[in-house]
Amino acid sequence: MTRSAIAVVDTSAFVANYRYAKSLAPRARALAVIKANGYGHGAVRLARCLGDEADAFAVACTEEAMELRESGIRQPIVLLEGVFEPQEIDNAALCAFGIVIHALHQVEWLERAKPSQQLNVWIKIDTGMHRLGFAPDELSSVLSRIKAIPHVADIVLMSHFARADETASDATERQLALFDRAVAGQTLACSVANSAGIIAWPGAHRDWIRPGIMLYGSSPIADPSDTPSPLLPVMHLESRLIAVHQLAAGESIGYGARYTCERETRVGVVAMGYADGYPRHAVDGTPVAVNGQRTRLIGRVSMDMLTVDLSDQPHAQVGDHVQLWGDLVSANEVAACSQTISYELFTKVTRRVHFRYR
Ligand SMILES: *Cc1c(COP(=O)(O)O)cnc(C)c1O
Repeated sequence: MTRSAIAVVDTSAFVANYRYAKSLAPRARALAVIKANGYGHGAVRLARCLGDEADAFAVACTEEAMELRESGIRQPIVLLEGVFEPQEIDNAALCAFGIVIHALHQVEWLERAKPSQQLNVWIKIDTGMHRLGFAPDELSSVLSRIKAIPHVADIVLMSHFARADETASDATERQLALFDRAVAGQTLACSVANSAGIIAWPGAHRDWIRPGIMLYGSSPIADPSDTPSPLLPVMHLESRLIAVHQLAAGESIGYGARYTCERETRVGVVAMGYADGYPRHAVDGTPVAVNGQRTRLIGRVSMDMLTVDLSDQPHAQVGDHVQLWGDLVSANEVAACSQTISYELFTKVTRRVHFRYR
């Protein structure tokens, strides 16, 4: 018998989430963001499922894009951090990778390059994130240099939001206003919306949306309204009970004796730990589903195991099914209980977990 920690990836949910993102911005094209191995879900598998339906894909770097090309993915691919070395430009043109240009050294590399074909360029403007991009008042000079480069095909103007998930903040509107002022008078295509922008800021949809986390079924909006999200979870992280004990009141569980039983407690041990990518910081009470019924984590998460309260499941036994996140327990809930975000949970599932695609 093999260890039972698995991630079941529902590829039809991924496709449905992509269609939902497109339906929110029906006039825009979409860059399906599958950087970091498709947020830990398997970029090649997901890209294949979306196939021709994707307008284009986005990844962080050449290595990630090459993996898709070598697996036969033919859609345009955009490198969100652009190139790290000038030598990457020839390859990008050859492989139909669009490149983000966010700094002057990349403009110089592009001017000096002699690629055998033209390539698309996404010029990044910093409207307040203060990570990558040109200041708004640098745009006109950068743009005239890039327009003069013969091997540049299409140009898209882009920016990135820092707080689009905070619907009560005016930060996104201020970023949009700065963007609009910077690109005024240009007829080039524009792209600003990540998932939160797509869901919460219709004025940000523009010509290209860039959905990431929403494709994986996780809403980026911190405080969703009462309406249930139409997003479908893609990853179901699952395992099984490998031991069940009855502990007397006053007994403690696991390292550091973090949890002490208040009464006689039935405790289940699950084959899932931080070495599988389950967050070690998850607090007592973090939801876990056993046999389809929600219960709670009790005791510190260890490397290969975690422990759950089976008080309400007197018949639960070794081999029974456990869901750590998926349709019964959302990754956002687990993230909130462990001081992180679903993005980090998904990208940290380790190779010890077997991935199954359905
Ligand atoms: C990762 C990324 C996205 C997607 O963001 P989500 O919050 O996952 O939707 C969009 N644009 C850029 C530039 C990114 O790096």
